[in-house]
Amino acid sequence: MNIYHIPNWIDGQDSSVLNDSWLQKYNPHNNEIISCFINSTKFDVDNAIIVAQRAFVCWAEESPVKRGQIITKIARLMADRKDMLVNIIVSETGKSEKDALGEVNASILQADYWASEGMRLFGKSLTSSIPNKHSYTVRKPIGVCGLIVPANTSLANIAWKIFPALVCGNTVVLKASEDAPCIAYSMAKLMEEAGLPKGIVNVIQGVGSVSGNLIVNDSRVKLISFTGSTKTGRIIAEICGRRNARVSLELGGKNPFVVCDDADLDLAVHWALLSSFSNSGQRCSASSRIIVFKSVYAEFRKKFINGAKLLKMGIAKDCDFGPLINERHMLNVLNWIDIAKQEGGEILFGGGKSNSKELLNGYYVEPTIIEHLPEDSVIYKTEIFGPVVTLQSVSNLSEALSLANDSEYGLTSAIHTKSIDRGNWFAHRVNCGVANINFGTFGSEPHMPFGGIGSSGNGTREPGVEALDVYSELKNISVLINENLL
Ligand code: NAD
Repeated sequence: MNIYHIPNWIDGQDSSVLNDSWLQKYNPHNNEIISCFINSTKFDVDNAIIVAQRAFVCWAEESPVKRGQIITKIARLMADRKDMLVNIIVSETGKSEKDALGEVNASILQADYWASEGMRLFGKSLTSSIPNKHSYTVRKPIGVCGLIVPANTSLANIAWKIFPALVCGNTVVLKASEDAPCIAYSMAKLMEEAGLPKGIVNVIQGVGSVSGNLIVNDSRVKLISFTGSTKTGRIIAEICGRRNARVSLELGGKNPFVVCDDADLDLAVHWALLSSFSNSGQRCSASSRIIVFKSVYAEFRKKFINGAKLLKMGIAKDCDFGPLINERHMLNVLNWIDIAKQEGGEILFGGGKSNSKELLNGYYVEPTIIEHLPEDSVIYKTEIFGPVVTLQSVSNLSEALSLANDSEYGLTSAIHTKSIDRGNWFAHRVNCGVANINFGTFGSEPHMPFGGIGSSGNGTREPGVEALDVYSELKNISVLINENLL
């Protein structure tokens, strides 16, 4: 078989000349090698940073409107190349074509949003206590940005970071995920084909603890924007803290989904299934703790299990979700299910690797529903990042709130109720960055801020205009008019 070799992309060209060490990427659907990607070293990272620093000089001077126009061209080329992008996502992540297309469309929308921001990039005009003094704020680029991404929504994760970084006038060293090397490489090539000057976006492949770590530690990289696990986020935060670099952290979640006694149960089941199992639960915003009022618990439980039984795994158009991203992660998820059993949890549905003949080689774990775990179960506290969900019952709304808030994480939440009072009371008190009433624990749209509290992040919000505070420096400019010179 002819294995595709993915080099780094530096200064508008393939870069792997001095490095002949390659890592393998497997298709999660069938465990076949689909590509090899370069195992980057200090030399590669250094090279990418030098190029990004050089490119910054001109890009920072370019007008934001022009930068936005280039992003518009990128969005158009992405739309022309949808099939290519979809195919890469399908083979690298094991998503169905339908889900991959959804992700490509969302990423194009993200590009459109940030392209138009080039015509705004608003500052403020300020009053002053001093006569004849006039002040205003402007947004300035930060410099070279190190963008580090996971593979769960492989293109969307890149789009969320790269477009706001570019429109603000920064240059980029993007660390591709080990699980999605080709999408990062292909996007960088596509962007330059669309008209982005060379050197502005550079892509480094390789192992996070090596090449990612080198980017994070480099004082020439002025901002680290990281999406990934809380464990890695903490390491990155420490390093950035020591060297006083700006850092944005979008981390894990353990998101509660509350079903009240007055909820439309069919609607609640529909959203609970999507929230828990879409993308095989590999969503920071996946609902992994379902909290149900006692009086409707039995009915919800029955409908939820029946719904899970109908879910179809695989990559075909009519499939609900695909495999986990790699074998190691699959084994981790299966291990958490074993721990749940050891703790006394009862597996109501699923609980193992798929035994379907067509999926046997892939990293498929069944949708898994667990109840009767002890109150102090480690499963309630840990982000499993797989198709695993727990059920708990409560007597009333305040009990539901205290269970929902019993977590170090605070990313998203959902509540199902017909009462606007209950819905809003809960939404205002639940500890998280995104609270949804009567739908799922789904994130944001390009113009809406997304992010979490506690172990889910460091308080930054991407995307939305709030992302401008991540990717630009605010400067206050004042002028004092000298009346003697009039
Ligand atoms: P991960 O932390 O293992 O890896 C994420 C990225 O960080 C990868 O590119 C990896 O190469 C790199 N990396 C790893 N160690 C590094 C280091 N020491 N220095 C620099 N870079 C390093 O996460 P993952 O398992 O790939 O992704 C799943 C996690 O991401 C989950 O916890 C999930 O909740 C989280 N996530 C969060 C959001 C959000 O917006 N909050 C979105 C998607 C995923």
